[in-house]
Amino acid sequence: MVIHHPSNALEAVNKRKEIPCSVYLAGGTEDLRLGGQGENKELIDINGLVPSEIRKREDGMVEIGALATLEDIIESELIPECVKKGARLCASFEKRNSATVGGNIGARRDDSYLGALFSVLDVVMHTITPHGEEDKKVSSYFPTNCRRLILYFLLDPKKEAFIRRFGNTSSSHATLIAAECEGRYALSVKGSKMVFGTSPEIYKDVEYVSDITGSAEYKKYLASIVFEGEK
Ligand SMILES: Cc1cc2nc3c(=O)[nH]c(=O)nc-3n(C[C@H](O)[C@H](O)[C@H](O)COP(=O)(O)OP(=O)(O)OC[C@H]3O[C@@H](n4cnc5c(N)ncnc54)[C@H](O)[C@@H]3O)c2cc1C
Repeated sequence: MVIHHPSNALEAVNKRKEIPCSVYLAGGTEDLRLGGQGENKELIDINGLVPSEIRKREDGMVEIGALATLEDIIESELIPECVKKGARLCASFEKRNSATVGGNIGARRDDSYLGALFSVLDVVMHTITPHGEEDKKVSSYFPTNCRRLILYFLLDPKKEAFIRRFGNTSSSHATLIAAECEGRYALSVKGSKMVFGTSPEIYKDVEYVSDITGSAEYKKYLASIVFEGEK
């Protein structure tokens, strides 16, 4: 296993660009698991290079450092209940204590705890690319393979959202995670790309597949009714 230890965030993002077969190493819960995204890849350690604090800014927005853990989210007084609920979808305390928010969004998994939620909450990420620092919405980053490094997230703490998960058990992979806020809808369905839009009809945009979490027909049924009578 090769692990690089760059000395700053710009060096890290340049390394990631230079080495096609590479991933960032944050908490490592995804990268270091068998079959995870880091398997047979070179790891670029970002610990110490990216913020981990959660703080309120003068404009009222909450800044969440990309290295803040899911447990930090749950314990912070600055974080709205819906985001705590998203972090609690990770049922293991041990994993929540290492798993970072940046790693959860950066992994862009089809059963992401926070991907659908941060998309409907219109969360903006402050990132660094080889060309400089840039803001980008989670909703437009999530469907891509972009290699930028997330530094922190900007969240409006006054927003509340609907979030609902279906799965066989709290610890198994989610069959479906749905989120809605102010007319923005998102669906993460296991085996499919996350869909995002302005109507519950987005369930028609999903290419459903049958797998261990459920049949394609079952997933489509859940997706078609999940926003009925929400909240
Ligand atoms: C048994 C098990 C079950 C799991 N189940 C789920 C699940 O159901 N849903 C789910 O979402 N996750 C799941 N995970 C994966 C993981 O725990 C979380 O996604 C976690 O939040 C990843 O954070 P991390 O800091 O550990 O990321 P790491 O493992 O360090 O990195 C994961 C990915 O994120 C990228 N990344 C990390 N930080 C950044 C950054 N700042 N900017 C850009 N990219 C970045 C890396 O390039 C890498 O590809 C599971 C893990 C295990 C071990």
